[in-house]
Amino acid sequence: MPGEISPQDVERYRRAWHSYVARRNLVVVLFLSFVLLGFMVARLKLGEVKDFAMLVGWICVYLAGAWWLTEWRCPRCGKIFANRLWTQRCISCGLSKDEVAVVVRRK
Ligand SMILES: [Zn+2]
Repeated sequence: MPGEISPQDVERYRRAWHSYVARRNLVVVLFLSFVLLGFMVARLKLGEVKDFAMLVGWICVYLAGAWWLTEWRCPRCGKIFANRLWTQRCISCGLSKDEVAVVVRRK
């Protein structure tokens, strides 16, 4: 229960949450910049090969960011939180992101 966790746990939850927010924001920024890149590539008309290379390069960067997000570990059980993006609950112990956020915002 969130009411029974120790101060050390709160600290661990807080660090985990900040790490999660950083990863999530990175993925959102990468996704938005990919859309912008699409517009840029369409306007610049560098030629098919360069367009394709830029898009493939950016997809790799995005996938790396997405992979980093899925590597986020659950602060309660210490295992990988989920193997998919945007999952709300830990696949190992069922802790939800909302519960982590609640613990972090208290105090
Ligand atoms: Zn867990």
